[in-house]
Amino acid sequence: MNARDEESSSGVGALISARGLRKSYGKTEALRGASVDLHAGEILAVTGTSGSGKSTLLHCLSGITRADDGVVTYGKEDLGLLPDQRLSELRRGAFGVVFQFGQLIPELTALDNVALPLLLAGMRRGPAQQKAGEWLERFGARGQAGLRPGEMSGGQSQRVALARALVTEPKAVFADEPTGALDSLAGEQVMTALLHTARDMGTAVLLITHDAQIAAYADREVWLRDGVVHSASADVLAREAVRREG
Ligand code: ADP
Ligand code: MG
Repeated sequence: MNARDEESSSGVGALISARGLRKSYGKTEALRGASVDLHAGEILAVTGTSGSGKSTLLHCLSGITRADDGVVTYGKEDLGLLPDQRLSELRRGAFGVVFQFGQLIPELTALDNVALPLLLAGMRRGPAQQKAGEWLERFGARGQAGLRPGEMSGGQSQRVALARALVTEPKAVFADEPTGALDSLAGEQVMTALLHTARDMGTAVLLITHDAQIAAYADREVWLRDGVVHSASADVLAREAVRREG
């Protein structure tokens, strides 16, 4: 093994590194030894068919779920060993998450949804709302500031959800099919907004998608099959092997 392989296999230099993750739900093995690195500032697409373990991987990497086995490290911290309090601190500050259906709080206006992570982080209401307004502006959703989620279109809600995920200026954003519920134009607008902002701020993005066009925005792509992560190069080799056999 040369120095470079060694470095990538141990996850040195990665912002978040997962090795050998296993996670089962009853008899269903969602992850069966999944390993992946997310580097600072990179946009990594994770593709795979439905049920291949993509969401479970995202939940383990972002500290939403603890894996049954394997290790997730963020800097020097092992997420599996962190107390709940530190995990939620990470989820509220260093990590941002966006889901397919925004999962905004229905009772709050767009502005208050975006201000919420700042309030939870201890910012006072005035400055939090000011900053939330700036982030809505950035995602072209300033006009929706006073609306509640039920009063917005899917594309508008997702832009508000992005503003909420990025308002704390996280190191990493985890996006689980963020455009999956949108038509292609709205999807493209949401993706463009996310990627421009991530590039501007040097935010790493782990982007789950089953849409090849969306994956094409990423710097790098890996995919999951049966709970194991495959890199593009490994798959090219596998396809080559199949071709030679056939
Ligand atoms: P993907 O996001 O790629 O569609 P998931 O990570 O959601 O895949 O799911 C992987 C497997 O784990 C699937 O078989 C799914 O049915 C199962 N699974 C995921 N979450 C749960 C859960 N909370 N309870 C039971 N089974 C689950
Ligand atoms: Mg999923």
